[in-house]
Amino acid sequence: MQVVSAQESERSPAERREALKEVLTQARGCVRCTELATKRKTVVFGSGNADADLMFVGEAPGATEDEQGVPFVGRAGKLLDKLLEEIGLSRPEVFVANVLKCHPPNNRDPLPVEIDNCKEYLHRQVELIQPTVICTLGNFSTKLLRRDTTGITRLHGQPEVLTLGRRAVRLYPIFHPAAALYTPRTLETLREDFLRLPDLLALGAPEQPPDVEEEIVPEPAEPASAPSALEPGSEVDQLGLF
Ligand code: URA
Repeated sequence: MQVVSAQESERSPAERREALKEVLTQARGCVRCTELATKRKTVVFGSGNADADLMFVGEAPGATEDEQGVPFVGRAGKLLDKLLEEIGLSRPEVFVANVLKCHPPNNRDPLPVEIDNCKEYLHRQVELIQPTVICTLGNFSTKLLRRDTTGITRLHGQPEVLTLGRRAVRLYPIFHPAAALYTPRTLETLREDFLRLPDLLALGAPEQPPDVEEEIVPEPAEPASAPSALEPGSEVDQLGLF
């Protein structure tokens, strides 16, 4: 167990970014899910601005993401880029992550045990990045962060304030871009929901709960073996030094 005594908000962005890199190193050595750890090519931790106001959370890396080690670089990712551009934002300004950091074979749905094993990484990412708005893409991230089984069809486009860890954030569930690739009506809805994002961001952070002095958080699993040597610049590529 690890004791986190300082509020993350008291740490500078540079300190939080360094802490995020440590979580990345832990995730790279993660073997909590035997099948995923055995079959993955890379751990797709997340990419973008480590101090972003806006964070997107998808489901799990696909095969292209597994190859490249970066989330949302396939067809759904291209659509995400386009929708971002339409509201005047770009990938380097936001942070993009997934519920699972490893590619489920044959693109199967994440298993409940895998979501449970992996959720700590996402919670650490949220704690350290400190976004004001978290946009959940589709059912898996929406259900996980809301701790509720209500589906995306009912919830999309409706922001709510949620306390995650010690911070309140604006959660904004929207359809997963992959669902919009082949369904024009879903794309239209996704675009309408996207258009509301700038106003939501302009609201800034919601009122925060009273400070908690000290909190015990479970420590991510120790890497089974030393993490593979980082290619020069690979940390920069995965986390983004934006
Ligand atoms: N779909 C996701 O949910 N995440 C990715 O990274 C790519 C596709």
